[in-house]
Amino acid sequence: MLFKTQDKITKDYDVIIIGSGLAGMTAANILGRNGHQVLLLESHNKLGGFATWFYRQNREHVFDVSLHGFPAGMIKTCRKYWNKDIADRIVQLKDVRFVNPQFKVQTDFTKEHYSNVLTTQFGIAPEAVTAFFEYLATMNFFDNSQMSNRELFEKFFPGRNDVTRILMEPITYANGSTLDDPAISYGIVFSNFMSKGVFTFKGGTDLIISKMKDELLKNNVDIKLQTRVDKIVVEDGKTTGIILENTKINAKAILSNANIRTTILNLVGEEHFPADYIEKTKAVRLNSSSCQVYMGLKKGVTIPHIGDLIFTSNYPTYDPARLLDLKVSSRTFSVYYPQEARPQEPDARVAIVSSTNCNYEDWKKLSPEEYEIEKNLMIEETLKGLEAFLPDIRDQLEIVEAATPLTVEKYTLHPKGSSFGTKFEGLEVSMNLHKTLPGLFHAGSVGIIMSGWLGAANYGVIQSNAIESYLGTQNV
Ligand SMILES: Cc1cc2nc3c(=O)[nH]c(=O)nc-3n(C[C@H](O)[C@H](O)[C@H](O)COP(=O)(O)OP(=O)(O)OC[C@H]3O[C@@H](n4cnc5c(N)ncnc54)[C@H](O)[C@@H]3O)c2cc1C
Repeated sequence: MLFKTQDKITKDYDVIIIGSGLAGMTAANILGRNGHQVLLLESHNKLGGFATWFYRQNREHVFDVSLHGFPAGMIKTCRKYWNKDIADRIVQLKDVRFVNPQFKVQTDFTKEHYSNVLTTQFGIAPEAVTAFFEYLATMNFFDNSQMSNRELFEKFFPGRNDVTRILMEPITYANGSTLDDPAISYGIVFSNFMSKGVFTFKGGTDLIISKMKDELLKNNVDIKLQTRVDKIVVEDGKTTGIILENTKINAKAILSNANIRTTILNLVGEEHFPADYIEKTKAVRLNSSSCQVYMGLKKGVTIPHIGDLIFTSNYPTYDPARLLDLKVSSRTFSVYYPQEARPQEPDARVAIVSSTNCNYEDWKKLSPEEYEIEKNLMIEETLKGLEAFLPDIRDQLEIVEAATPLTVEKYTLHPKGSSFGTKFEGLEVSMNLHKTLPGLFHAGSVGIIMSGWLGAANYGVIQSNAIESYLGTQNV
């Protein structure tokens, strides 16, 4: 059932899930479908976490926050763990473009096309391209390779900043990866995309989340929105429930979809963990955050097809640190053409969302006046960048607004507005949580690999299996 805001929860559960991001929701759906009593609690007034959207002007404009693209694997995940209807609405974005001083490339973002571009446009020997993709295919999550992205690209394409740029920049734009990050996290994410290209959900985030909500309710998952969990209860060395408004709700297992550091350090508390585990937790670095500019076009305005995803930059070379800079000249435009993005809404407007990675501190340190000035500058630079593709865009726009890391932090409770969880080391801490504190599991963006729509949903699957094994041990 869907609890109303004022409803009190009175019964005990097998599993309580804190947070309804894609990981939390996917785990809830599997556990509910398998007959467990599941309660899903979400602090926001809607499900989805980062998989979210917002309306403006009486719903005339709708903006997707994180629906820029995900790998084809999402189709299988949705078919298996959600339903066929959701899976069948996932479609490929066929027109991905790169426009920067080093090259212009139009691609469907598949391995075949990338290989072709690398050999014909960049002049790389076919054997080197094949060797690179073969190497990526052998990488697996359990490898303990210390190789960094910098070393990976130097190994296969020495001295070729332009090649590094086309291979790495989309991933940097997407999840803030740098050349110093482990090659394993790049290899897995990039290979996931390269298998078949970039995909999206036809109908928009509001539609997929409403379909997921229906499925959760069908599978008897209890849902309560606008409910922020402040404490996870630990008794006799294991978790036994959570506290809501001074009342304990019992559960055999808890799955936290909140940030991993917040889960351990705030929701549970250091005193319940061994010192070395806390040390590792404190050493987990958060990933970078992001800024967006949301642009809604006037009613009836159409635009020529300029690409689905456009990676643009005026910067002469590939430099991940510059991509995070406040005065960035690099951004990704996601273009939502109404008939393709929201065919169910005949009056849908064209929406364009510009995204850039950025550092939380650069925005946090600004005074309120400086913050407004920087936001307006960002909007202005974005419009200038977009004019290169759509010269009349300023006249066609009805809505322009910007979001910063502070906006992300406010709405998602992610410390420092981290948009892709944590760096690689967060994965080990997350996966070891239930081994360290029985009954408490974590699923959600960590280690880059378990981030993004597909990574988060799949991590929900992995942890729901672990929870089922744990519940088995509690029932004997
Ligand atoms: C601007 C932006 C663009 C992105 N673009 C893409 C993209 O194009 N493709 C892609 O694959 N990924 C993208 N991502 C990343 C992707 O959206 C996320 O990695 C993924 O949705 C995270 O899911 P999650 O399960 O980790 O949970 P989250 O989305 O982080 O949700 C966690 C939920 O837990 C709730 N919560 C936290 N603490 C509590 C508490 N104490 N009590 C109750 N509830 C709580 C929060 O309110 C939130 O709803 C983007 C992210 C951002 C920010």
